[in-house]
Amino acid sequence: MNQDLQVFKFGGASLDSVESIQNVGQILQDMKGQALVIVVSAMGKTTNELEKIVQAHAEQNGEAPALFDAFKRKTFETCLGLFDESHEVFVSLNDALVEIDWVLEEEPHENYDYTYDQIVSVGEMVSSIIVHAYLNQQGLPTQWLDARDVILTDNVYRAGWVQWKETQENANRIVKPMISTEAFVLTQGFIGTTSENFTTTLGREGSDYTAAIFSYCLDAKSMTIWKDVPGVLTGDPRLFDNVSKLDLLSYKEAIEMTYYGAKVIHPKTIKPLQNKHIPLLVKSFIDPQGSGTYISDEVVDNYPPLVAVEKAQALLHISTRDFSFVAEHHMSHLFKVIAEHRLQVNMMQNTAICFSICVNDKDNKVADFSQAIEGQFKVIIDRGLELITVRHYQEKILEELRAEKIVLLEERIRQTVQMVLKDVPVMKRK
Ligand code: ADP
Ligand code: ASP
Ligand code: MG
Repeated sequence: MNQDLQVFKFGGASLDSVESIQNVGQILQDMKGQALVIVVSAMGKTTNELEKIVQAHAEQNGEAPALFDAFKRKTFETCLGLFDESHEVFVSLNDALVEIDWVLEEEPHENYDYTYDQIVSVGEMVSSIIVHAYLNQQGLPTQWLDARDVILTDNVYRAGWVQWKETQENANRIVKPMISTEAFVLTQGFIGTTSENFTTTLGREGSDYTAAIFSYCLDAKSMTIWKDVPGVLTGDPRLFDNVSKLDLLSYKEAIEMTYYGAKVIHPKTIKPLQNKHIPLLVKSFIDPQGSGTYISDEVVDNYPPLVAVEKAQALLHISTRDFSFVAEHHMSHLFKVIAEHRLQVNMMQNTAICFSICVNDKDNKVADFSQAIEGQFKVIIDRGLELITVRHYQEKILEELRAEKIVLLEERIRQTVQMVLKDVPVMKRK
């Protein structure tokens, strides 16, 4: 194990303005002289803005150039708050941004997801160029690393799966020699490359996962993700008032919570860390001295109820067309198609002739999936649902969560309750 290396990840919220970037610089001053790999994601809501450009280009609705201009303007404005006009960062930025110009000049590619990755990945490139230049300017020597030279994925755009063997080899060859107490290494989250050198992305919010990939491949001592919350809380503070911070969390608890929608950590982050027993700290960039949450192998007793909410859920009721039982061979076929469509199944249940699954209703996946099985099965879809998972539940909390909702599916396994909920439709008078 590389006893001294730490990995830090700064997400969009920690890089959303000139002041935020200065704050990150301040946090990193305390790390001077230590071996550190820094992973940054795109600034603020950049990824959403770039997604709109992709959409506009695909639709050829004429809006893409204006959206791109607005993005460039905002980026340069931030830079002018950090650097002198003559700083070389502007040249590097233009080189990164021109990639989008090139895509927009072409007719839309037949593969939407491919274009998505080529455009959206620029957000991470831009952010890493700016933060790299800023740290060096602040007397924090930092080396810039292209994550695409390290993280190899398959060629499923927007949801690349890491090819671990090659990624490990690249990390050994390229990154390990860069690790030093003299200079940090700074790279991008979220992005990777195919074996043909096309940029891929790892799925929305994937930068936490990137940091875990680097931590794993480099045998880091610990990994820290810097967030706008004091640590992992008992529920999302955007949805609930009475939440409290968890000081300690086991990997097991963290993976369960994040898989079912606790948005504070990307669910894929935990496995690589657990496999090498690398602790994960979730800390606040607003209060860097705060204790945060420490996630490790340590078993923790007596958790309070933990609530995770996953919105945009769809419930699919899949039944045989000829009233035959949903038998094993049907299941095996359905799961094959589910896997091909990379649908995330959050809950499932079957009766004699109906198999129900609750899945994330993202992009066009549900429609594509049901189209693929329609020949053989009848599919009824309920959309706009919410999946609530409560670990270490108490009846009182369940009642509160269910209030004014219709429960479409509920399941209790040991300490966990899951409920698929629908808003009660408002009754209109005649
Ligand atoms: P990043 O800046 O790294 O992209 P995110 O916005 O993805 O950070 O994650 C932080 C957000 O996660 C918080 O602002 C909070 O609203 C949300 N969140 C959801 N569930 C939890 C939870 N259980 N504990 C803390 N934060 C949570
Ligand atoms: N920038 C990407 C996103 O917004 C990745 C990340 O922030 O983790 O999804
Ligand atoms: Mg995020």
